[in-house]
Amino acid sequence: MISEYSPFNRWKGLLHEAHLSGCARNDFLPPYWVATDPSNQCNNNCIYCNARCFREKTKYATMSGEHLLALASLYRDWGIKATIIEGGGEPLAGERVTEFISQCYLYDIEVGLITNGSLMNEPYWDILPAYARFVGISMDAADEKIYREIRRADTFGVVVRNIEGLCKNKKRLDVRAKMLIQPLNYDKIYAFAKLAKEMGCDAAHIKPVSWEEVEGCESLDLSQYSDVINMQIEKAKELISDDFAVDIITYKHDLQYRKIVNFKHCLCTPIGGVFAADGNFYLCFNMRGRDGFKLCSHFPDANNVRRHWNTKRHKELIANIRPENCMRCGLIQYNEMIEKAIMQDKLFRNFP
Ligand code: SF4
Ligand code: SF4
Repeated sequence: MISEYSPFNRWKGLLHEAHLSGCARNDFLPPYWVATDPSNQCNNNCIYCNARCFREKTKYATMSGEHLLALASLYRDWGIKATIIEGGGEPLAGERVTEFISQCYLYDIEVGLITNGSLMNEPYWDILPAYARFVGISMDAADEKIYREIRRADTFGVVVRNIEGLCKNKKRLDVRAKMLIQPLNYDKIYAFAKLAKEMGCDAAHIKPVSWEEVEGCESLDLSQYSDVINMQIEKAKELISDDFAVDIITYKHDLQYRKIVNFKHCLCTPIGGVFAADGNFYLCFNMRGRDGFKLCSHFPDANNVRRHWNTKRHKELIANIRPENCMRCGLIQYNEMIEKAIMQDKLFRNFP
């Protein structure tokens, strides 16, 4: 479902063999990418929000703009190549985010943004094409009614306007509209992909919701809708053209939409990490705010993370990760690559 040269082809991890080998040896290089969460505040209230407990627990923390810019300096000094600005909450609710984006660009750090799009107004239509690599906008719906039911917000119209404004100006910026398939929208996949194309996006990015990731929610059996989902996906694929992709993300789940864990140990977290809005650094973006995943604080001293990196405690935290207790693993192929390509050399690396 993902083309060979899509940014969502996770086998690109093999381009970072030195980092993966460090994970395998238990002797880590600095991360090559990190998530940056400017804020745990959000003006949406999605029914599937897996960050709700973390956001409430941290009293909707927001980093100071000064600290956000200090992180950009840390990334430059530590050799980090890319950052995804996300949440936590809605990242554009944070302070001095536009300055952070341009500062990263000046420091040669690539920037991606995941947003709900409601605050991505005119200034971003210039800043993002100039300084960022990609933007993913979570929408979930092709019409106002379903949008309001899922996201419990009245921001559909403004999001469409913001995406259209950005796309008119986007040049090389990759813009993707994102949909999580769930009972309220499973029969609207084609309509969503069509809207994404009409707004001028490069792609519609579609995957099943992970209901079990929401604390306090029962797992949801989406397989009862699979006939309609598959039909909708086939129809959506008719929209694919040279300048529009329909990316269906299937690697995290099996045919019954259940979580896959096809590796023994989670060894991959040192390729990245999360500078979260609550002032702490977490090992994994899927597990931000969860017990057992906090390495140390990064506020007020951003460099604290470098002092805790690759230490005995860091290694103990990783050894204690139980993948079966995690959310759907967003880095599943990285764990597979470390185990099968790096440690077991199943690819016969030295042969063409
Ligand atoms: S936009 Fe993101 S952070 Fe905000 S409520 Fe929805 S899922 Fe949660
Ligand atoms: S979700 Fe769990 S198993 Fe996957 S990378 Fe994160 S910590 Fe590791």
